[in-house]
Amino acid sequence: MAVLGATGSIGASTLDVIARHPARFRASVLSAHRNVEALVALCVRHRPELAVIADPTLAGILERRLAAAGVRCAIGAGETALVEAAAGALCDTVVAAIVGAAGLRSTLAAARAGKRLLLANKESVVMAGPLLLTALREGGGELIPIDSEHNAIFQCLPATRAPLGRSGVRRLILTASGGPFRGLTRTELAAVTPAQACKHPNWTMGRKISVDSATLMNKGLEVIEAHHLFGAAPETIEVLVHPQSLVHSLVEYADGSLLAQLGNPDMRTAIAHALAWPERIEAGVTPLDLAAAPPLAFETPDLTTFRCLALAFQALRAGGDAPAILNAANEVAVEAFLAGTLPFLGIAEVVEAVLAELPAQAVVDIDTLVERDRTAREAARRLLRGAC
Ligand code: NAD
Ligand code: MG
Repeated sequence: MAVLGATGSIGASTLDVIARHPARFRASVLSAHRNVEALVALCVRHRPELAVIADPTLAGILERRLAAAGVRCAIGAGETALVEAAAGALCDTVVAAIVGAAGLRSTLAAARAGKRLLLANKESVVMAGPLLLTALREGGGELIPIDSEHNAIFQCLPATRAPLGRSGVRRLILTASGGPFRGLTRTELAAVTPAQACKHPNWTMGRKISVDSATLMNKGLEVIEAHHLFGAAPETIEVLVHPQSLVHSLVEYADGSLLAQLGNPDMRTAIAHALAWPERIEAGVTPLDLAAAPPLAFETPDLTTFRCLALAFQALRAGGDAPAILNAANEVAVEAFLAGTLPFLGIAEVVEAVLAELPAQAVVDIDTLVERDRTAREAARRLLRGAC
């Protein structure tokens, strides 16, 4: 199988589960963005047939380092190599674990090629939901979500995979930890730092998704993701803050039943579920001891303080490419926040202004979408220059 984004947090958890089942799984393709040393270390350990570095200027260094480490495998470089690897004969399964819009083309390529697509890269669904669903249908493969909330919902839905209405589903309830800043006021949020934002109370994750969790944009992206993956109307998707992160999401049925998936907050559960589905395998995760667990609390999210969640619902309702515009503006704003050039509350301001500047257009094809993504990034950068 291919692990795209192998050097990241999801990549590491995936390779950990794979290594527990050597007779069952093999990582035949590994990719990284720029971290040659980390990619070489993974190649030494997992002996793939192909290593891809997304930054094409680093191909030569990768080749020399792999040779020096005694690893013999093919080398690919650049986005084209990623796309070819995702669709190529070296894998039947693709773990899409690249962060952000950078994962879009390889995710779509895997779907179009009929691979079993284990999806962590939520940004690609947010940007191109309808295109991804078409690619999956045409490719004839299947998608199993790795994002813990969607994996939980997948587990709580009937195995028939019939449309929600026909399955008696009334609502999908996505749980949110509330992030490190739950309960803070806007005044308190004004001065929070990237280091504080990246210190998530329950999960260890990459920096971008950590900031998204702190602004609640992560939950907003997940609402849009749930809309596409499960065919759920916006008004049937609800967000509930659950600070313990033990209930990973729920499905409400017409008869009043609520089905939930619980477990310790460790992504290896969702990853192992997706890897083995419909079977079950050991994931290395400590079982949840409910008698020793803290009381489970639930509350409604504060959409006035955490504007990003409200903006994501707004983009979903606007339809067309509004979610792609939201995502692009957010990626630029989060980068600026992490670089220390934009205050925390500025993230929502930038996203809101870019959404207002670029009204939604219909999603036609991937090239038009990538062009709109670029336009939205330029608009966000212009706003950032004005703000500095
Ligand atoms: P991360 O930052 O730890 O890792 C990102 C990976 O993507 C790295 O391997 C990096 O080399 C690669 N990458 C970055 N930019 C790239 C580019 N331009 N081209 C090619 N490759 C690039 O991120 P993560 O936390 O592992 O998250 C990965 C994805 O999974 C994100 O979409 C995130 O929203 C989603 N996700 C993560 C978690 C989690 O617990 N970490 C949970 C649910 C969903
Ligand atoms: Mg999630």
